[in-house]
Amino acid sequence: MSDLSELYQELILDHNKNPRNFRKLEGANRSAEGFNPLCGDKLTLYLKLENGVVADISFQGSGCAISTASASLMTTTLKGKSIEETEALFENFHRLLTGHSADTARLGKLAAFCGVSEFPVRVKCATLAWHTLRAALEGQGEAISTE
Ligand code: ZN
Repeated sequence: MSDLSELYQELILDHNKNPRNFRKLEGANRSAEGFNPLCGDKLTLYLKLENGVVADISFQGSGCAISTASASLMTTTLKGKSIEETEALFENFHRLLTGHSADTARLGKLAAFCGVSEFPVRVKCATLAWHTLRAALEGQGEAISTE
């Protein structure tokens, strides 16, 4: 457990305990559901897109600390970002999680998940919200799974 506890940094714990934007979004024009069967994480993502920009974003669901904190931090990071910026951030975040060189300055608080790269099974927890976001952006109605 000592290795794993290192991964649960203060920021992650805080966002797990008090997830930001944890609600159903009134006026959402996109939504998608995501499920990570490896861990049992599930979430619904709500998105309000206006002229290719994330005007508002929220989520609901249940899962482990990593998945909840990741979804929470993702929503706080993406408000006001364009779809292109969102895709670039996801790519950057994924590089961080898989141990590749990432632009941590650009990632801001998302860099708190760097420890996840030492726990490959947790990468799916940390990326669930992002995969679900991508599904919402692509307008896929059906539930997505990380498998
Ligand atoms: Zn999980």
